[in-house]
Amino acid sequence: MAPVSLLIINARIVTMDAERRVLNSGYVAVQGQTIVGVGPMAECPDSADEVLDASGHAVLPGFVNAHAHSLDILLRGGVADDRPLYDWLVNVGLPAARQYTLADHDLAVRLFALEALRGGVTTVVDQIETPYDQWDAIADNVVGSYARTGMRAVVAQMFYDTVPAQMEAVMAAYAAKEPQIPQDLGAQPGLLVEMLQRIEGMIDRHHGSYDGRISFWPAPGVAVLCTPEALLGAQELARKHGVMTTVHVCESPVDAVQHGIPSVQYLAAIGYLAPDVLAGHCVQIDANDIRTLALTGTKVSTQPVSNLFLGNGIAPVSDMHSAGVTVALGTDDGDCNNSVNMLADLKFAALLQKGRARNPAVLTAERVLEMATIDGATAIGMADRIGSLEVGKIADLIVVDMHGAHLHPHQSTASALVYQANGTEVQTVVVDGKIVMRDRVPYWLDTTAEQALIQDADAASARIITAAGLRPRTDQTWISTRPV
Ligand SMILES: [Zn+2]
Repeated sequence: MAPVSLLIINARIVTMDAERRVLNSGYVAVQGQTIVGVGPMAECPDSADEVLDASGHAVLPGFVNAHAHSLDILLRGGVADDRPLYDWLVNVGLPAARQYTLADHDLAVRLFALEALRGGVTTVVDQIETPYDQWDAIADNVVGSYARTGMRAVVAQMFYDTVPAQMEAVMAAYAAKEPQIPQDLGAQPGLLVEMLQRIEGMIDRHHGSYDGRISFWPAPGVAVLCTPEALLGAQELARKHGVMTTVHVCESPVDAVQHGIPSVQYLAAIGYLAPDVLAGHCVQIDANDIRTLALTGTKVSTQPVSNLFLGNGIAPVSDMHSAGVTVALGTDDGDCNNSVNMLADLKFAALLQKGRARNPAVLTAERVLEMATIDGATAIGMADRIGSLEVGKIADLIVVDMHGAHLHPHQSTASALVYQANGTEVQTVVVDGKIVMRDRVPYWLDTTAEQALIQDADAASARIITAAGLRPRTDQTWISTRPV
């Protein structure tokens, strides 16, 4: 065998290859960025620059978090609790975003990355929603922050260009609840050409950078807050550069209808839905919409915990699966979940569908692991590079400690990971062939630095909350739903 830079041995290998092979005692060999061998220990190469003995551990492809907003992580812990989606947007998300400094953005990405890596995530689609006058500076900053974390990231610049009457009324009603908060809905009517030009500049600067670890996409933020020109303009720009677009679709009841017809049907009618569209959420959709998503080859990302947190409902994931739609998994905003741990979210994804369908066989543990890995990679157009452990693919993988008492006994690794794991079991993370996290400590963060990161994040959060006029829950504002 050719030279090997990293060799992981004695592991249970969950390959997620086409045959879904699981090797009870196997190895993964890596040279540079690339997997050069996967097989049983009997065929293991003799030597490597670094050998990692993973006895008692499972090795899987790293998880793809296909829908997240890292920056909001500084607003978790009681700021956004119990608010519907657009109450959250106008009274928390948008006003707080105006108060972030570039240092705050860097803190947010590092706090997010620390938890995401520990939850098994190697790739994240991070949609940033930022004040228009600071777009470029923040996008450049976020890309740099991700590059330093060692993760693979798709950074997507969100934008809106319209606030239709139906949405204006909804948002004005929520804004009236908290008059102390200055309102700026973030839409930029009349600036579409300029917005797309600026995003093209970001794609030019960042897409494919850091050995291909960073991708950059245009993100027409929410379907109902975008004109057809914005959606199709973003798509044209994406296709020119070989990237995808991602958009929030039918997340809540108030954004499920566009110009009088179901939003999915509207998006299909204007010619937007296509295999290179990643539609986030798709909660409020019916059988006809599912057929349309399948026929157009549109990819979907589901965020089960966020959908519950915001009271939006349960996406019909198992019905989408039956129709042949590729569905990836995401954690969504750091303050609408409120963790960003994919491993911990797998159980929600499975149980919700069983409960919704009143059929426990409707979504299996194995299928949930597919959603988190190979389907996630397919949904973001990277299945040729990541999502499974196969020779020729990029070495993005996780080493999961299976020793814990809570994981035993088990006969199926997939079952144990989805139903028994609590999200703290990922020990080692490899991205692009490099060990990014070892024994749960990322290379960029020792114990002292972690304490400093936590303190800085707490301080930044408190400052942003005060500056934005937010009124968080505290231990003194005990809000119980207990009848009085
Ligand atoms: Zn989102």
